[in-house]
Amino acid sequence: MTAPAVDARRPTDDGRFGAYGGRFVPESLVPACDEVDRAFRAAWADPAFRSRLDEILTGYAGRPTPLTPAHRLSAELGITLLLKREDLMHTGSHKINNVLGQALLAQRMGRTRLIAETGAGQHGVATATAGALLGMATTVFMGQRDIERQALNVFRMRTLGAEVVPVHTGSRTLKDACTEALRHWVTAVADTYYCFGSVLGPHPYPWMVREFQRVIGDEARGQAAAALPAGTPDVVVACVGGGSNAAGTFAGFLDTPARLIGVEAEGGAALSHGTDGVLHGFRSKVLQNHEGQIAEPHSIAPGLDYPGVGPEHAYLADHGRARYVTVNDTEVVAAVHRLARAEGIICALESAHAVAWVLRAVTTGEVAPGATVLLTLSGRGDKDMATLMELT
Ligand SMILES: *Cc1c(COP(=O)(O)O)cnc(C)c1O
Repeated sequence: MTAPAVDARRPTDDGRFGAYGGRFVPESLVPACDEVDRAFRAAWADPAFRSRLDEILTGYAGRPTPLTPAHRLSAELGITLLLKREDLMHTGSHKINNVLGQALLAQRMGRTRLIAETGAGQHGVATATAGALLGMATTVFMGQRDIERQALNVFRMRTLGAEVVPVHTGSRTLKDACTEALRHWVTAVADTYYCFGSVLGPHPYPWMVREFQRVIGDEARGQAAAALPAGTPDVVVACVGGGSNAAGTFAGFLDTPARLIGVEAEGGAALSHGTDGVLHGFRSKVLQNHEGQIAEPHSIAPGLDYPGVGPEHAYLADHGRARYVTVNDTEVVAAVHRLARAEGIICALESAHAVAWVLRAVTTGEVAPGATVLLTLSGRGDKDMATLMELT
């Protein structure tokens, strides 16, 4: 069996993955995006930049992460399940891989200040962390409703020295924070770098963030080669919010016969239920009504309630190279408990979406007995304990 010939390794020079991606920004932001694009290409080709990033990822942030065989759960399910442990990264998830890359790039570009959007606060915390590490001022835009719901992460960001700016427009959540951060960037491009939290936004962000996250897939590919007799797994699965941990994971396996599965939250499933549209500077699948009004997604996992999805995933879906499925909140909570008791790992509610799909796919036969499954555990569950306590 061979994989279908899809080349998602690079978008076109203007950032299109097929019909998706591109750059839909005000005229005043075009030079800023061009400058990020040029700087990223130069940095990514520069061994000195790569080795400095590598040094920080290993000496500070916790790379490489292990590929853990889930022995007991595998035995229960009759498959071989391998977990790529991004939950062990500094600040608790894969987000730091991307943020450290972008913060180093900002510094190389001579910028002194980072801005970011955040929903639940995880990307804000990661950006505040990178800002503190590199001595850069950090401002995080966050919807007022999210500020009220995520007091702990707001306090984390402030402890790290970041300024948290409340956003009072729209539904006062993530999409509004993103809009506001882009608006602010227009007025501050001279000294300010916008650090996007996922494979979203205008070109070059979706491609650049994927490249910063591909360390997950590249590491996992090598680890799977050593762990599996066949060399590559039959199935590779990751949860999809904006799509960065999945894109980084898939990047390591696109040229293998592995089936690639992205798991969305039932209430935030832009790929499964969305339509073509433009949001925050790029074209992709978007949750919107027939008038183009953006929907407010709902998921028990705060990191999965973005109303759009990275353009590369829309492209991979159209070409059948990756398949996107949904699971519901009930399955997700059950998956957290099942993994915790079988393996001693309390994963994030986001990551539990991937686990939940595997549990279901084994019973429906979509994952056959004896199959090998590599699953990216994007984050740890500490942040979700209050949510789980309310349910028990
Ligand atoms: C933010 C987050 C996600 C969703 O983001 P992606 O860009 O889709 O990876 C998933 N898992 C965790 C733990 C997160 O914090």
